[in-house]
Amino acid sequence: MFLRELDAALDHVKPKRTGEKTFEALARLGIVDVGTLLCHYPRKWEDRSEELPLNCFNLGNVYTTVTVLSHGWFYANHRRTLKIIVEDDTAKASLVCYNRSFWEHQLLVGMKVKIYGEFKYEYGELQSKAFEIVNPNDEGLGKILPIYPLTEGLSQNILRRFMRRALDIYTSNLENELPEEIIKRDDLYSKPQALQAIHFPSSYEARDRAEKTIVYEELFYLEMIVGKRAMERRAAPASGKRAITTGSGFSPLQKRLIERLPFSLTPGQIETAGEINRDMDGPYPMARLLQGDVGSGKTLVSFLACLRAVEEAEGQRGQAALMAPTELLARQHAENAAKLLEPLGLRIAFLTGNIKAAGRAQLLKALAAGEIDIVAGTHALFSRDTIYSNLRLVVIDEQHRFGVTQRQAVMAKGQSSLKAQGTPDLLMMSATPIPRTLALTVFGDLDVSVIRDMPPGRKPIKTHLVKESNENKVYDFARKELAAGHQAYFVYPLIGEGEPGSRAENLKDVTTMAEKLAKTIFPKYPVALIHSRLDEEEKQKAMEAFRRGEVKVLAATSVVEVGVDVPNATCMVIEHAERFGLSALHQLRGRVGRGEAQSYCILIYSDQEIPPELVGVNPEILSEDERSKEGKRLMVMLKSSDGFEIAEKDLILRGPGQIAGIEQSGYLALGLADPVRDADKLARARADAFAILEKDPGLLQPENRRMAAVLERAPPFGLV
Ligand code: ADP
Ligand code: MG
Repeated sequence: MFLRELDAALDHVKPKRTGEKTFEALARLGIVDVGTLLCHYPRKWEDRSEELPLNCFNLGNVYTTVTVLSHGWFYANHRRTLKIIVEDDTAKASLVCYNRSFWEHQLLVGMKVKIYGEFKYEYGELQSKAFEIVNPNDEGLGKILPIYPLTEGLSQNILRRFMRRALDIYTSNLENELPEEIIKRDDLYSKPQALQAIHFPSSYEARDRAEKTIVYEELFYLEMIVGKRAMERRAAPASGKRAITTGSGFSPLQKRLIERLPFSLTPGQIETAGEINRDMDGPYPMARLLQGDVGSGKTLVSFLACLRAVEEAEGQRGQAALMAPTELLARQHAENAAKLLEPLGLRIAFLTGNIKAAGRAQLLKALAAGEIDIVAGTHALFSRDTIYSNLRLVVIDEQHRFGVTQRQAVMAKGQSSLKAQGTPDLLMMSATPIPRTLALTVFGDLDVSVIRDMPPGRKPIKTHLVKESNENKVYDFARKELAAGHQAYFVYPLIGEGEPGSRAENLKDVTTMAEKLAKTIFPKYPVALIHSRLDEEEKQKAMEAFRRGEVKVLAATSVVEVGVDVPNATCMVIEHAERFGLSALHQLRGRVGRGEAQSYCILIYSDQEIPPELVGVNPEILSEDERSKEGKRLMVMLKSSDGFEIAEKDLILRGPGQIAGIEQSGYLALGLADPVRDADKLARARADAFAILEKDPGLLQPENRRMAAVLERAPPFGLV
């Protein structure tokens, strides 16, 4: 039996007196049966082989028996908070019980208990905010104890007990999932050994070996899935016949567009367009990711691909659909396409969920009849009632913005409506650079093209950090830019006022600030407001006016982060910049510096105290760390303008598993492995998996049956 098949009820492994609440808490962590329980790996382990008295608190975590002396109460962030005074043979200390006032009734004065935790000298006393009361039974669990990710209503003690019983009862018969040769070659554990040693290791060496085993197993199967996908794609018939073969040269329509452009293509655009042409001419459906930093001119490359799709078919013209994550961006693409491509005789349309009934019906009819060549829109492009007559190419702009499900819907749509015609070519675009390591894994079945250069004449954007108290200087500076005829963005983290008492209370919001900018700060210049809650018409009006230069200052939220292209804007001011993630900041900065004039990005940060909401809620994640991360992000922005470098830094700052645009889309259903940290193991796992697939694509050989069986039961990875 495989671990994933262990669907025995948790009832069989529950400690005595476990209530319904505990099961609910477990379910919140995704633990619903013994299999999912055993896959809930510790986030760290604590060594309890030796005691450490209170007066040695600075040598490590205290582990000692104390007597409860008294209870006290104090107020922290308007909350009445319990403090328990204890003492061991060496010192007195306080246990600060944020959100844990239940200890009042459990740790009674005079009791002796064993405690474990980190202590610090603060407010003139020895204190711990993150302590654990050691359950006497725990001492039988071993000397190195697992610390699990928890949720409200669940304690380490209870979870450890569940785990212990599950290991004892269920693991001995589990089958290995990795091929035996690999287990031998790399000196890995068997499956039962690995599970035992990851949860309750007898030594740190055993823990490391277990970790190595499980990480390798996860990466191996990830690459198996990637490899199988790649093979299936290559086996699928491509859409239509290739009437015109361009090689890497340009086709007739493409040449006509290039001739009409007021500038020449950059080498990167020429190269990537060539790669796309070759794919589109080739026998397999294209699945290519086009990467290029903000402003590198990806849109134009995608237009070239659209032209290729339209003209390729014999007799009948092909169609291209260009999908963008926001209506704003979709509209901009439609308008650009109209400007550049209609003169070449192409018919362009714009489709979103908001298009009103009558117009919509007509548009859909035209699309189905093949009277539209290129349609730009939001995901409405792939809703059920949208039918294409001959869809040859799907372009997904800012692909990281779409969830896996949406991308899969697109592909399914392409395949079902076009059975006769074959799978359309797929071009995904992203400015969020995917570090090389990840490109190999998650996007391992895609081909990747990268635009490495920028259109000529661009001056590097000058970035400045400014304290909130100096904001008037920023306004003065922006006035100069406006006086010179340029335009400015002002970006805020909130749409409306923050709730009093909440973390957002002291943040500026775009609605209030738009008014202030218009009335008091820049009374001479027209200001417009844009954010996601305005209706489409209002958004469009604001954006249009800004693009035409009638509006000089655009007060916005991060809706302008993706794609918006107004070359005359030279000033990007981001207030409360510390509240934005690195990739958002980089994208926002990419909205300026798109023309020939010198552009500026000004990051205004507020240097407040630790937000009170964070303190005490989870004493284990002390917010000092968070705070210094905010600072580090801003420093990265100051020092680097290279999207790839920023993305790598972002990965490091976010820590394992937190990969922009990927983790929230469920790509990495990995438990212990982290493709970035484990890059070398990943490369090995990939080589192993691909070697096996190359010899036996269907995994039909007896020695490969096990892998086929595991894959059949694998959780669906969201790979396109
Ligand atoms: P992104 O890659 O961020 O999507 P865009 O496609 O929006 O970038 O292009 C940014 C700007 O650069 C647009 O105004 C576009 O017209 C312009 N542009 C694109 N290619 C070139 C080029 N080869 N030379 C000069 N300007 C270009
Ligand atoms: Mg773009």
